[in-house]
Amino acid sequence: MGEIDGNVLVAKSLAKFGVRHMFGVVGIPVTSLANRAVSLGIRFIAFHNEQSAGYAASAYGFLTSTPGVLLTVSGPGCVHGLAGLSNASTNTWPMIMISGSCDQSDVGRGDFQELDQIQAVKPFSKLSLKPTHISQIPNSVSQVLASAASGRPGGCYLDLPSDVLHQKISEEEAETLLAEAERNRNENENENSKKDNHHTPADKISEAASLLRRAERPLIVFGKGAAYARAEHALKRLVESTGIPFLPTPLGKGLLPDTHELAATAARSLAIGKCDVALVVGARLNWLLHFGEPPKWSKDVKFILVDISEEEIELRKPHLGLVGDAREVVEILNKEIKDDPFCLGKSHPWVDAISKKAKENVSKMEAQLAKDVVPFNFLTPMRIIRDAIAGLESPAPIVVSEGANTMDVGRSVLIQTEPRTRLDAGTWGTMGVGLGYCIAAAVASPDRLVVAVEGDSGFGFSAIEVETLVRYQLPVVVIVFNNGGVYGGDRRSTEEIDGPHKDDPAPTSFVPNAGYHALIEAFGGKGYLVGTPEELKHALSETFSARKPAVINVIIDPYAGSESGRLQHKN
Ligand code: ADP
Repeated sequence: MGEIDGNVLVAKSLAKFGVRHMFGVVGIPVTSLANRAVSLGIRFIAFHNEQSAGYAASAYGFLTSTPGVLLTVSGPGCVHGLAGLSNASTNTWPMIMISGSCDQSDVGRGDFQELDQIQAVKPFSKLSLKPTHISQIPNSVSQVLASAASGRPGGCYLDLPSDVLHQKISEEEAETLLAEAERNRNENENENSKKDNHHTPADKISEAASLLRRAERPLIVFGKGAAYARAEHALKRLVESTGIPFLPTPLGKGLLPDTHELAATAARSLAIGKCDVALVVGARLNWLLHFGEPPKWSKDVKFILVDISEEEIELRKPHLGLVGDAREVVEILNKEIKDDPFCLGKSHPWVDAISKKAKENVSKMEAQLAKDVVPFNFLTPMRIIRDAIAGLESPAPIVVSEGANTMDVGRSVLIQTEPRTRLDAGTWGTMGVGLGYCIAAAVASPDRLVVAVEGDSGFGFSAIEVETLVRYQLPVVVIVFNNGGVYGGDRRSTEEIDGPHKDDPAPTSFVPNAGYHALIEAFGGKGYLVGTPEELKHALSETFSARKPAVINVIIDPYAGSESGRLQHKN
């Protein structure tokens, strides 16, 4: 038997512990590691920028419920990658970042791309490991992967000093180390499953069932934790057996179809403002849910929170907390309710009120959407996109959305009918995730088309990754709502700018009518410039059936949006 080096051993360890895809940017000292991983059957998606690759890895973790893997070079590569790692941790998605680092013997001497990377990743990493000898590689790889996905998912970090990557051991020894790491992993999994197996006490489950049964105005809210847990079937049973209206958070959309008769999305203010008991599954009572406080929620509402994280429940101090996996807890709750069933029924005053309000709001919105406004506002093209998506057969496309106005309008207008088919700026309101998320979605769900609906500002963060789309021929259609800037171009007439640089382009503005469609054409992809309903319909019809990389540059009236979208109070 021959010898192998650290690069091969990292690649072997990744393959052994289930990694199928990696995202990243190669360079010193990790190029050989990427090549070795490819040789072992791992698909390596090479990006232009670690930030986008990191966003891809984070979304991959959400879509597949297995850690997304980001590979970066040392120093600045690691710093760029922090964008993705922090995004994963904030969204509670499993991801690992692997960065090369400088030779251990050169630490502190100003080596090429030197940085104390373990220190740099600290705020965003559940577990950070740095093997100091090749023999520690298999265990380290296994541990970071396991930790990212265990308990509340999040980011983990693996630091690979260049000297460790170049050390060698015999293949025989490598196999022994890999087998040992696998044994350790199995033992830890057993330990963790004992720890994670919270066995929500029966009395808490029956209290939850009884609170829902006695409620006059119950509501079921679910979020991306429930989506991650694949709780859709359990939630559907719960909603349909009890007749309780439901409200998804943006990334919970699609667990039950938006078109479901018990969907309270279009009556959100009424639902959260008036419910007396809210079962919240895999969603934090953070800014997205108005902290669960008045004036948006009633001061007397009783929250039943279901979350994998005990800390989260302690933080929110709900009326009742159920620690555990969303799917498992909801399944147990279903069993409990089955023994003593109840169902509100359509004529129940609460269900009726929500349904009436939802219909009223939908018809108001439809009246707005029905108009063909040219130059385009946000609504007209969004309606055309919604209808084009609705015309597609299952599996539904994954919709990626970002930008202030574009994302806000898209959230209300676009319809999700299948779980985990929406990705957006998420808990952190991260702009720039678009192209990375598109690439992750196309790689994680190869049977689905990916449709990005992006503001021009969001698109710009990672626009060069359209080359990555073309290189891998991914079925991604990027629709850019081009209103010439952040929130909407040069708005000098609405906000005065003075001083010696007052004639510079406004801070909110980009070049008006920029030719974003030409960007993808530079790499051999298909670009469309559209300004009318007919042009947009034609571009969507061609690109949706071609399932090839395309950018549709939709020119929007620069005055159509509002500053900060729906978060004006925060700006
Ligand atoms: P949203 O943005 O959809 O409101 P959040 O990201 O705020 O959702 O909340 C997701 C919650 O889901 C987090 O508190 C996280 O701990 C929790 N979570 C993650 N995985 C699971 C799981 N398997 N079961 C239950 N809760 C989970």
